[in-house]
Amino acid sequence: MSPHFRLRVPPIEGESLLGFLWRLGARNCISLGTLHRMAGAPNRTNSPTPDTLKRLADLTGIAVDVLANLSCRTDAPNQTRRFGKHVLPRRLVSWRRRRFCPGCIAESPHHRAIWDASMVSICPLHACRLVFRCDACGNSLEWVGDNLWTCRCGRDFTRISAESIAHTDLVGTQVVYGMLDQPSFEATFHALKVMLPFADLEVGQGLDLLHSLVMTRPALAHWSVPGDEADENVHVALNEALEACHAWPTGMGAFLASSAQRTDDPVRIWVNSLPSGVGERVKANLLATITEPGGEQQGHKTFEDKSTISMDEAAAMLGIPVIRLQCVPNLCIFLSGERKRGSLRAPLLRSMVVELAKSTERLLTKSEASDILGVSPVTFAAIVQAGMVPDVTGKAPKSGTLYDSAEVRRFLKGVLERVVVDPALDGGPEARLGSSKTRPALHGGRSVPVLRGLIEGRLRCARVDSQAVGLHRIVLNAIETSRFVASGH
Ligand SMILES: [Zn+2]
Ligand SMILES: [Zn+2]
Repeated sequence: MSPHFRLRVPPIEGESLLGFLWRLGARNCISLGTLHRMAGAPNRTNSPTPDTLKRLADLTGIAVDVLANLSCRTDAPNQTRRFGKHVLPRRLVSWRRRRFCPGCIAESPHHRAIWDASMVSICPLHACRLVFRCDACGNSLEWVGDNLWTCRCGRDFTRISAESIAHTDLVGTQVVYGMLDQPSFEATFHALKVMLPFADLEVGQGLDLLHSLVMTRPALAHWSVPGDEADENVHVALNEALEACHAWPTGMGAFLASSAQRTDDPVRIWVNSLPSGVGERVKANLLATITEPGGEQQGHKTFEDKSTISMDEAAAMLGIPVIRLQCVPNLCIFLSGERKRGSLRAPLLRSMVVELAKSTERLLTKSEASDILGVSPVTFAAIVQAGMVPDVTGKAPKSGTLYDSAEVRRFLKGVLERVVVDPALDGGPEARLGSSKTRPALHGGRSVPVLRGLIEGRLRCARVDSQAVGLHRIVLNAIETSRFVASGH
């Protein structure tokens, strides 16, 4: 049992994992950040790995299955998230932008998991808008700081007055609450689930359809696919989408005719994402509406070849800007199923793009991946050349490729878990991985043998600086490291 957590509190029904950990930590005078550092967790997430969950359980003395039940983790972690008994597409649950209802926290100051549903922007219990940002300093809320209900600028969030929402504008969000089994909203979804489109879909698929429909609204044209997002005004779009569903399928015509201009087509992507045999009537209704002559701007897609897709569609399915895809020839060649170079213009195979979208958490450029590791792109390139991080195609990368954020984080976590700290080395001159300024210089290819030494335990580090980013957390003793490098390891 850990000495750090003498006081145990049970989770509250409907509480999120991060909210519970924060509340438990606060009772024991330990901040969420400190708790995560103690558990060696790289980031604050409602979807921790089984290892992290185990360490959090050891630290807090709360049973691991209690924590697992609060978490959003599923066995297929990259593209799905669990919410209660439902498995949902990843984009439907997001805790990146924390938000809350002042009315709810006045009743009980705990963080509700339902606020992490990406389509929830208002509280139907209190008929008010959720608070997304501090009204004093304007900063969005994050999972940092000592107190969830006090901003870093000092503003007391319990004193924020919420903006009320007309009762007629609550309907869309009430249905989402009902679909996600929120107490006192079950009946709202009851009448709807016996009618198309919801009659033929599971709850997760129905919610995902609503998500695709709200994405067509001009006010939400900045939403990307797939991605976890939240928006202050999604309830308005949700009401419109629900109204169109009430008049299924005829109501869809006018609804989709007023779609925003965007490079992807969220509704078509949703139709294509459903396995065959599932929701066939719903798919047929939607496709008929999309390809009707009235559907104007979508008209040219009517005769598309289903087995190949455009760069635009592929980029949308992968959740990246099309320009990024155009800049990675090796990945495009891979996605076209071609083995040879120089076939840049080959069309992309839908099956390959679907496969890739399923397998990757988020696609990163070399420079974004470098940022996560806290090193320069040159150092990152040396790390990948050494085979320590594969590109998204799983190969030793050439130029013109992208990286899976999960893979980059796994590498970082693996290194940080393996480093051996020797306090006797602390206090001397320091060196850090990726740095060209210290002696010895550890950038580019020079960082590779040092990394290997750290991973294999042949080189010890002086300490771990939890404030630093990525590999920079590893503080090396410069003299010890010079000796290690000179020894030819
Ligand atoms: Zn509320
Ligand atoms: Zn503030």
